[in-house]
Amino acid sequence: MSREVRRVPLTFDWPLRQVWQGYLMPERLREDPCPDCERGYTAAAEWLHTVAGRLGMVAEDIGEQRRGRPMHPWLAEDGYPPLNRTHRVARPTEDILDLVAGLTGEDRERPTHWLGSTGGGRIAVKIVKAAGLDPEVWGICPTCQGHGTVEKYPGQRAEADAWEWTEPPEGDGFQLWETVSEGSPISPVFPAPEGLASWMSSPAYTWGAVKTDADRPTYEAALRFIDAGWAPTFVSTPTTGVVSGVEWVGNREDGETR
Ligand SMILES: [Zn+2]
Repeated sequence: MSREVRRVPLTFDWPLRQVWQGYLMPERLREDPCPDCERGYTAAAEWLHTVAGRLGMVAEDIGEQRRGRPMHPWLAEDGYPPLNRTHRVARPTEDILDLVAGLTGEDRERPTHWLGSTGGGRIAVKIVKAAGLDPEVWGICPTCQGHGTVEKYPGQRAEADAWEWTEPPEGDGFQLWETVSEGSPISPVFPAPEGLASWMSSPAYTWGAVKTDADRPTYEAALRFIDAGWAPTFVSTPTTGVVSGVEWVGNREDGETR
C-alpha cells in the first residue's frame, strides 16, 4: 500500500490511474477457463466442501444459541431439517463441538466464535483421508489438474511462467505513482520536484484516502517526500500514531506536525 515517485521521460503519457502495460501479462498468455470445473475441483469435491461447510455452520450455531440469536437461514431453511417434538427445526446440541473439534483438530470452543471456510476445508480434508484417499489427488479436476484453466496451446503455461514484467521507461521527469494495484501513474509528469510538490499540495491531488485539503501534504512536506523517494501509504510510529506515509516522510526530519 504505497505511493512513490518515479522518474519517467517528460513525454511519458501513459493514461493516469491505468496499470502500466508492462506489469500486466499479455492476453495471449492467458489460459482458457477449464471446460469441466469452476476452480480446479470435481463437482464431487465441491459438494464435499459444501457439506463440510454446513457441518461447520452447525457447530457455529452453538455460539448463536448462546448469544440468543436465531439460526442461520441456510440451516433454518434446510429442506429436510431434524425436527423437535413441536415440529420446529431442532437446534444442535453442544456435542457437535466435540465432533467438529475432532475433525478440524482445533479447539472445541473455536466454532462458537467463528470457524469460517478454512474450518470447513479442514473437515473436508479429514473426511477424504478417513475414506483412505489422498486429498492431493481425490477431487482434483483431471482435465486441468486443479489449475481451473487449460492451455490455449502446448507450452503456454511455461511461456507465462517465464514472462517477466517490464518497468516504465526512465527519464528526467517526476511523476507520482500508486503501487496498491500493480502500479499506475496518478499525477502529470513534472520537469522538477517543485512542480510535483505544488501539484501534491493542491486540490488536483485526490487519490485513495486523500480527499480533502486536510489529507494533503503541505508543499514542504511533499517536497521532502519527493526527495525521500517513496512513502508507504500509512506509517505507525509510537509518537505520532498512524499517519499518512507522505506526512511521515515529510515530517520525520524536523518532527513538526503540519
Ligand atoms: Zn478443471
